[in-house]
Amino acid sequence: MGDFDDLLAANRDYAADFDMAGFDGVAHAGVAIVTCMDSRIAPLAMVGLHPGDAKIFRNPGGRVTPQAMEALVLGVHLLNVKRVLVIPHTRCAMASNTQEEIRDRIAASAGVDSSWQLYSVVTDQMAALEDDVHRVRAHPLIPDTVEVGGFLYDVDTGLLDQKF
Ligand SMILES: [Zn+2]
Repeated sequence: MGDFDDLLAANRDYAADFDMAGFDGVAHAGVAIVTCMDSRIAPLAMVGLHPGDAKIFRNPGGRVTPQAMEALVLGVHLLNVKRVLVIPHTRCAMASNTQEEIRDRIAASAGVDSSWQLYSVVTDQMAALEDDVHRVRAHPLIPDTVEVGGFLYDVDTGLLDQKF
């Protein structure tokens, strides 16, 4: 107990002004975003959206994993998603390290063997993004009416650049 006191205190302040009671869980702006877990990324703010507007799925690298695809299918069919943005970013650790480099760093931190843990590194970030976008567009449960775009987020300027 106590390790989370600062965050729980902040949560009570947050809840004091909370105005989303009873609000539904659909994406009111019709948007879903797949992006990286990177702490420099503010997925809603960077496209002018707010809580309630969009479905957000994050993982290391911002890849369209099977779980991300599951989220997109749910979003499109049950939660009002009409546009999908896949957004990896510049200076991403998953795109600038090899599997071995990340494994070595984790092993050094953990102090135990970590060779069994896989990391979703990419050697060609743009090729991976193109592949991810195409797989969403081609998915049998994602209708053609859904717009799918692939973007690179620049963590040093805050700008999105559409690539696909
Ligand atoms: Zn990243």
